Amino acid sequence: MEIVAETHCHTCACDHAFSTLYENVRYAAKIGMPFLCITEHAPAMADGPHEWFFRNLPKVVPERLDGVVVLRGAEANIMDYDGKLDLSTRALERLDWVIASYHTVCIQPSTEEDHTRGWLAIAENPLVDVIGHCGDARYPFDMETVMRAFAQNGKIVEINAHSFSARPGSRERCREVALACKRQGVRIVCSSDAHFFTEIGQVGPALEMLREIDFPEELVLNTDYDRFLAVAREKSGRRLIETESER
Ligand SMILES: [Zn+2]
Ligand SMILES: [Zn+2]
Repeated sequence: MEIVAETHCHTCACDHAFSTLYENVRYAAKIGMPFLCITEHAPAMADGPHEWFFRNLPKVVPERLDGVVVLRGAEANIMDYDGKLDLSTRALERLDWVIASYHTVCIQPSTEEDHTRGWLAIAENPLVDVIGHCGDARYPFDMETVMRAFAQNGKIVEINAHSFSARPGSRERCREVALACKRQGVRIVCSSDAHFFTEIGQVGPALEMLREIDFPEELVLNTDYDRFLAVAREKSGRRLIETESER
């Protein structure tokens, strides 16, 4: 398995990432990655860009650049355990690919009941496409209840390779998340959460873990061109590519 889409990356629009959007695109083109989702941290992160960034992104950045299909998205912050996000509906509905995540700088970890309630609210939000790094061990939740809700609402669960090293205790928790996705038939993507262009596509530890648990490949959306194109069309509401020669 190799990935055809980087579904989570950052740019220097937030100060703790270090490449421009176009550097990310050029690198994706160089390594032969057909799809790239730009998912900047939303405004509640201290150095995240303003709401206007997210409103303007799909207006000014073309959906294809250097042969790469660019999904203009966001990584929205979950702000409370009722599922409040830090971007307006107006911004969210125009974006192609919306991840929602818990980050400690925006919401303090609480009880398992609260984390569960938050994810259940996000599951019901039609503007959210992807569940961001829910294998973060600092936010335990009722796995089967939440995964059932994600499956019922067509949410995509991200296995975030960055969590394996950056989020304490998360390697084992990511494995539990993947096993629950396998049981409940939840679709997943593997992402790098790149904060510099050279990290794009670096999801080796996530793919290795999926192999270890014999995860069904048809549920991994970003390891197959046609599978990812179908979901990218579903989420963006656009054709993205018209002819075979554009592949
Ligand atoms: Zn970040
Ligand atoms: Zn994140």
